[in-house]
Amino acid sequence: MQENDIDLLIIGAGLTGLALAYYLKDQPLNIKIIEARDRIGGRILTSYPSEGAPIEHGATWLGRKHEALNTLLKELGIDIFRQELGETAIYEPISTSPHQLVQLPPNNDPSFRIKGGTQKLIETLARHCKSDQILLNQVLTKIEEDGNHLVAHTKTDSFKARKIISTLPPFLFYANVEYPPNLSENLIDISKRTHTWMGESIKVALRFKTPFWQKQQTSGTVFSNVGPIPEMYDHSDADQTVFALKGFFNGSYYSVSKEERLNLVLNQLRKYFGSEIDQFTAYEETVWRNEKYTFSNYTEHILPHQNNGHSIYQNEFLNGKLFIGGSETATQFPGYMEGAVRSAFTISQKIIASQ
Ligand SMILES: Cc1cc2nc3c(=O)[nH]c(=O)nc-3n(C[C@H](O)[C@H](O)[C@H](O)COP(=O)(O)OP(=O)(O)OC[C@H]3O[C@@H](n4cnc5c(N)ncnc54)[C@H](O)[C@@H]3O)c2cc1C
Repeated sequence: MQENDIDLLIIGAGLTGLALAYYLKDQPLNIKIIEARDRIGGRILTSYPSEGAPIEHGATWLGRKHEALNTLLKELGIDIFRQELGETAIYEPISTSPHQLVQLPPNNDPSFRIKGGTQKLIETLARHCKSDQILLNQVLTKIEEDGNHLVAHTKTDSFKARKIISTLPPFLFYANVEYPPNLSENLIDISKRTHTWMGESIKVALRFKTPFWQKQQTSGTVFSNVGPIPEMYDHSDADQTVFALKGFFNGSYYSVSKEERLNLVLNQLRKYFGSEIDQFTAYEETVWRNEKYTFSNYTEHILPHQNNGHSIYQNEFLNGKLFIGGSETATQFPGYMEGAVRSAFTISQKIIASQ
């Protein structure tokens, strides 16, 4: 299939790609979104079981300071609720001493979660798209110039468009896409050294029938320097009807089996909660490092957030035909949902101005 009459081709149906289509929905533009995975959302992924608590495998928390995201959520009629931390946290400072309960200070900058799951944001944005606008299972492999147009080649199809907006994490654009030879060398060099936020992370979660940790002497909040779970929080739903604990797991365990990770999770949590932890009804995890449309091995040592929000990403490329968007390219809060929404908004304004 070759599609030729596209004004804008957005690469990636994560938060940036879908928010960009949303901000441009009233423009007289033929817009398509191509997405490599068989699902939308990218680094946002909520699992909804038939019974039990939804689990956020990707983005979960936002704050009051995330103004663009909060504005978008309000506009879409999506509510948020406060992440409860409890009054105390379980703290494990070193392996040679037992864990202890510590009093948490008053929280003047609380975190919030999206009621119904972060995926609700993604699904709501997608509902504003036309039925044939999002094409799944389309892996971008190459972009080439064709006069005043660009042609995007996927593994199966090609798409000729006036403008292309990549919302891939910049490192994936560098690593996985063949680009025109005259594309800015500076852009390629920075993309090659831009960290993808949370790309190396592992999330783990356990569902329970009762929130036994919600007692005065404990809460679901865990901080451990010993690990392999460094942080864990109550992950029950907003109405406190279904219950779960969810945390991060040391990213270096990406190559061990799911069963081994579960054993390590249970061993650590038994220390704090005793045998009640064995009454979990389901275990879920996502090893983001093994997700090829989020993470690819860097070619050199890259620090967290390195080159996030770099000024090069504010430019247009190939005579205004190519934009590089995505959360990591935002000048404020890069790497976070807020960065994704800001990137989408900024690019939408440039496109509207260029019409
Ligand atoms: C475990 C984890 C926890 C997080 N926690 C938080 C949090 O609590 N708060 C917060 O604000 N942020 C958090 N984040 C970050 C947040 O998820 C991201 O900032 C945001 O979702 C990025 O959106 P994006 O659209 O820019 O990128 P992505 O979501 O990465 O979207 C890019 C899209 O491009 C697609 N794609 C990739 N390669 C190709 C290709 N070759 N062809 C076509 N499509 C392709 C991908 O499949 C994906 O759908 C977390 C992320 C993770 C992984």
